[in-house]
Order: sequence, then structure tokens, then C-alpha cells
Amino acid sequence: MIIKSSDYAISAVKEEQYPKDNLPEIALAGRSNVGKSSLINSLLGRKNLARTSSQPGKTQTLNFYVVNQDFYLVDVPGYGYAKVSQVQRQKFGEMIQDYLETRENLQGLILLTDSRHEPTKDDVAMYNYALYLNLPILVICTKIDKVKKSQENKVIANLNKKLDLAYDNVSVLTYSAVKKTHVKEVWDWIEQNL
Ligand code: GDP
Repeated sequence: MIIKSSDYAISAVKEEQYPKDNLPEIALAGRSNVGKSSLINSLLGRKNLARTSSQPGKTQTLNFYVVNQDFYLVDVPGYGYAKVSQVQRQKFGEMIQDYLETRENLQGLILLTDSRHEPTKDDVAMYNYALYLNLPILVICTKIDKVKKSQENKVIANLNKKLDLAYDNVSVLTYSAVKKTHVKEVWDWIEQNL
């Protein structure tokens, strides 16, 4: 994939606010701090297009980024964030559910987990939910540069302990936003699913 342009397009919390130009969409989800903004920025070769969690004022909205005027990457806000109330959490869950369940333009989901840890309960729930929705899924194990070379083969084994990966619609990649590991492979997956 050759990236000719990438721009922030719109933020949405409900259907009326989603883009109306009928382009295909790929969603990205993962718990807060997993490296989602860094993945989006590094895929697009941009420094600060997606805001990282260390930046204040990060809002709990679906953020749509238009790429090559051709398709959207949709940043689903990070789940498992401790400092929100029960009510906020529920609203947030509904927002994500509404989007994932009803959006016809949605072509696939990229689910991010941290290479250094086994998937969390929230990761497992999100993964099983995406399976249930029958979406093409790419699981990305982020921050692979933080794992010792000798431990790298354990990353997928750890993933397998909690996620049943043996489905035709599921792919898995390791990734480093710092070293740009597997940028091309991620784009290949996106391209195949658009
Ligand atoms: P988000 O909350 O999922 O959007 O996570 P961020 O992209 O803000 O990343 C959280 C933290 O992890 C930041 O300090 C990033 O610099 C760091 N980070 C993200 N991706 C990588 C990576 O591939 N390698 C390393 N070493 N650090 C990363």
C-alpha cells in the first residue's frame, strides 16, 4: 500500500455522526496504553496524527482517519481504562457495540495486545465478540521490541493460551512502532480486507 494522504476526518459517539461518504472502514481496538495511537501514527508515517494516551484530553470517541481518500482507519477508544465511572463504562461499551454491530462499511478489526503480557480479560472479551460478529480479525502483538529475541517465540504461545486463534478469518502479527516491524504485513492485511 502506498500512502498518498492521511487526515483526521471526524469523531463520533453515535451513528448520525459517522462519515457519510460510504468508504470501507477498518477498526482498531485495544486496551488503553497498548500502543494503538503509535501503531496508527507509524503505519501512516505521521508523528502525531493519532493522539497518544500520554497527551491530555484524549476523548472517548470513535476517531476516523481517512487514508488516500479511499478508506478509513477507525480508532476505537481504549478499553479497560480504570479511571472511568460505571455509567461512563457502560455508555462507552454501548458506543463500541453500536458501531461494531451495525456499521456496514466495517470490513475488519485489528485487535491489539501487548507482546509482554498474556491477553487481559478485556482482550479476551473483545476477541470473542469480534469472532461472534464474524469479522476478519488481525491480532497485533505490540511493542515486540521490548521482548528479548530469545522470548519472541513465546509471544504467540502466550496469546494462544487465552485466544483460540484457529479460525480462517484470524491472522496474527507482532509489531513494533519503534522499529517499524511488520508495517508492510499490516498494510497487506488491510488491503486484502478492504
Ligand atoms: P494507546 O493508549 O493504545 O494509544 O497507546 P500509545 O500509542 O499512546 O502508547 C502507549 C505507550 O507505549 C507510549 O509511551 C508509547 O511510546 C509506547 N509504545 C507504543 N508502541 C510501542 C512500541 O512498539 N515499542 C515501544 N518500545 N514502545 C511503544
